[in-house]
Amino acid sequence: MDKQKKQQFETEVIHHGYDSSIYQGSLAPPIFQTSTFSFQTAQQGENRFAGEEEGYIYSRLGNPTVKMLEERIAALENGEAGLAFGSGMAAVSAVLIALTKSNDHILCSQGIYGCTFGLLQLLKDKYNVSHSFCTMQTESEIREAIQPETTCIYVETPINPTMALIDLELIVSIAKEKNIKVVVDNTFCSPYLQKPLDLGCDIVIHSATKYIGGHGDVIAGLIVGSKEMISEISMTTLKDIGGVMSPFDAWLLIRGLKTLHVRLDRHCDNAEYIFEQLEVHPMVEKVFYPGDKKSEAYPIMQKQMKKGGGLISFTIKGGKEEAQRLLNELQLIKIAVSLGDAETLIQHPATMTHAVIPKENRELMGITESLLRLSVGLESKEDIWQDLKQALDRL
Ligand SMILES: *Cc1c(COP(=O)(O)O)cnc(C)c1O
Repeated sequence: MDKQKKQQFETEVIHHGYDSSIYQGSLAPPIFQTSTFSFQTAQQGENRFAGEEEGYIYSRLGNPTVKMLEERIAALENGEAGLAFGSGMAAVSAVLIALTKSNDHILCSQGIYGCTFGLLQLLKDKYNVSHSFCTMQTESEIREAIQPETTCIYVETPINPTMALIDLELIVSIAKEKNIKVVVDNTFCSPYLQKPLDLGCDIVIHSATKYIGGHGDVIAGLIVGSKEMISEISMTTLKDIGGVMSPFDAWLLIRGLKTLHVRLDRHCDNAEYIFEQLEVHPMVEKVFYPGDKKSEAYPIMQKQMKKGGGLISFTIKGGKEEAQRLLNELQLIKIAVSLGDAETLIQHPATMTHAVIPKENRELMGITESLLRLSVGLESKEDIWQDLKQALDRL
């Protein structure tokens, strides 16, 4: 069979880039748990450092297990090359530092991951890279928000934690015209549900800690983009800042990825069911879910996502006190940040993931004190709902 031939997603998550015959038939790929690689001769060492000969040097610069994961995620996102990091934030920071210099401006979606918000503040305070936020809902709004210094548009869609969607095709059409790079944090979707590079975006970022790992046992980040851009990031902000992924973590992610499509299908089915139940519960005020057919954003979801995803946010009647009481009444569902695990997780953004964001910015993003974010797991959907319902009923 032609090795280069593109296969279906469901086949590539399991097979892409691994040939067991090279490794004595080992079905699972080996973990190259090594920090360095010995050269056969001094000349070979010189050639590798000069970039004149392919081969490994030192695991911060590249490692076979990590490389296998990088090639696989690149194939799944339909990109040319991938790069692995020790955390999602190592990936976000490497990308933003690589794409900006002092006096540049980053235009961000209104609502981003809490630590990305912290990083933007740091870039502003220390390096004079500015940023601003935009809901990005209309063409004129986006055009007005772009500044002459804008070099990068940074987007999360669905937005964490409000689940608002941004039309990636629209962003790309404006950005291309102005030669601005579009970066998408695709953590909430994984490549199974959304492929931003297919729509013309430049770089995709993942906190692989979430759906890609899928089992809540690893912290990791991945990015995918053109060969040229990935190679530049690899040789600068990855190599010199050094937030690399360990070979063992790469191995865990290769294992997790094999079931991505199966897990995501179930996450989405369970979430649809929980969404329907939440919508009619008297203690629930409003439910935010990309799969909501009544929402204005539904056509965007149909255009760029395969399904609605596994995350739901909702507000309850009351405020912080009621939100915390609800969490404390839960028995099966775990109170925890993170998402995309087999276990259903719930958290309170205003006091947890988005607590670092000043209250007024937070409220502008739609993160009120009664908002809760649910990462619907893989348990029985009836059991998940029973637990939520008994807690809601007690409010
Ligand atoms: C978790 C998360 C991150 C950060 O990833 P880590 O792996 O925790 O460093 C970035 N963006 C989004 C949307 C996330 O959910």
